[in-house]
Amino acid sequence: MAKIYVIEEKCVSCSICESVCPFGAIEMVDGIPHFNDACTFCGACVEECPEEAIVIERESKREVTGDEHHDVWLYAELEADSISKVTLELLRIARELADKLNEKVVAVFPHVVSDEIADGVIKHGADIVWMIDMPSIKGFHDEVVADAFAELMRQEKPEIFIAPATDIGRALTPRMAAILKTGLTADCTELDVDPETRLLLQTRPAFGGNIMATIYTPYHKPQMATVRPHMVKPAESDDGHKGEVKKFDYQPDPLLLAAKAILEIVEEEKDEVKLEDADIIVAGGRGVGGPDGFKVIYELAHELGGAVGASRAAVDEGWIPYPHQVGQTGKTVSPKLYIACGISGAIQHVVGMRTSDIIVAINKDPMAPIFDIADYGIVGDLFEVVPALTEAIRKIKSSK
Ligand SMILES: Cc1cc2nc3c(=O)[nH]c(=O)nc-3n(C[C@H](O)[C@H](O)[C@H](O)COP(=O)(O)OP(=O)(O)OC[C@H]3O[C@@H](n4cnc5c(N)ncnc54)[C@H](O)[C@@H]3O)c2cc1C
Repeated sequence: MAKIYVIEEKCVSCSICESVCPFGAIEMVDGIPHFNDACTFCGACVEECPEEAIVIERESKREVTGDEHHDVWLYAELEADSISKVTLELLRIARELADKLNEKVVAVFPHVVSDEIADGVIKHGADIVWMIDMPSIKGFHDEVVADAFAELMRQEKPEIFIAPATDIGRALTPRMAAILKTGLTADCTELDVDPETRLLLQTRPAFGGNIMATIYTPYHKPQMATVRPHMVKPAESDDGHKGEVKKFDYQPDPLLLAAKAILEIVEEEKDEVKLEDADIIVAGGRGVGGPDGFKVIYELAHELGGAVGASRAAVDEGWIPYPHQVGQTGKTVSPKLYIACGISGAIQHVVGMRTSDIIVAINKDPMAPIFDIADYGIVGDLFEVVPALTEAIRKIKSSK
């Protein structure tokens, strides 16, 4: 626990601390700041106090040297018997971090995988692949898997652990962090390391997405973060990369197995292509002018076998439901082809689609910022350009 107090001899009753506290946790009583339960020990008052009269003592503070903790670990998973795309993305991030720290990349599967899969993970950048060998349990038992990971991590002491910000990553990592008594930053959009302090710089949107906060975990290891899918391209394969495969035998505590799933929620299969998995996305913005304007977007997407995306402006107008929103407060996508129609290219939209392989922008304003990131730009009215494209694709398909 942390403790905050005022050195009364230094305090000049300026009440700057009271005005800068973002949590309303400071009240001036007889000219001296008093801290209530809302205090999160964020340190804003300490930084702003001109007299250096406020002190935070972090009792749990302990210096953790990089000596006993090593390597950058990641949660690895399969998808339809292949290495999942998000695992390949984490491999790229982990490799970059590990190279900066001169450490190894370690991928951990919550089960035993084939030699072929383990070899594939090594070729994509892992130096070590761990497979947790545990008795087969029906379904995904997050308490057991989190406990297994924590046991292995207590033994091996990773410096950094990253997992995808998917349903599984979000269920597992808080449990692991609680067991290991360390911090966790969820839903990061960017990770980097400070090579001097070896701290993991965990960047994510904060305060409703209005600012990007960079968070770090100075006193505890491993430093843990979940990363939003599609923030980077998947790691590429290198046949020459070598590594080793290890197995960890884990026996769950019978108490953990006592919990049983009594309800299984199965997501209904929909005909529509899932936005996150689509290879082609045709997206509409405020430029489509209304719900009817999306008809041309749907027609082009249908002809291309793709999904329909949207800017927040179109979603906020109620022209298309929220699951279609791409961007900082929507989905992050990385298709092979992204066609942005009537979208200006605000940064909050661009962060959700900038890793697309090819970006085509259709906009009637030649100065629209979307053209700065587009591979192909068409200046024109989308209601002329999009139907013409649809028609051209129909013709090509029918001539085959
Ligand atoms: C905290 C926060 C989070 C946000 N999160 C997101 C997010 O997740 N996703 C997101 O998209 N935005 C997000 N935004 C909003 C973002 O800042 C922009 O306001 C939004 O992306 C603009 O949408 P737009 O490009 O469709 O609309 P506009 O900026 O209004 O652009 C419309 C474009 O359409 C063009 N146009 C008009 N008519 C035609 C036509 N007939 N043919 C061709 N072009 C035409 C115009 O030239 C213009 O460039 C967020 C904002 C904040 C503050």
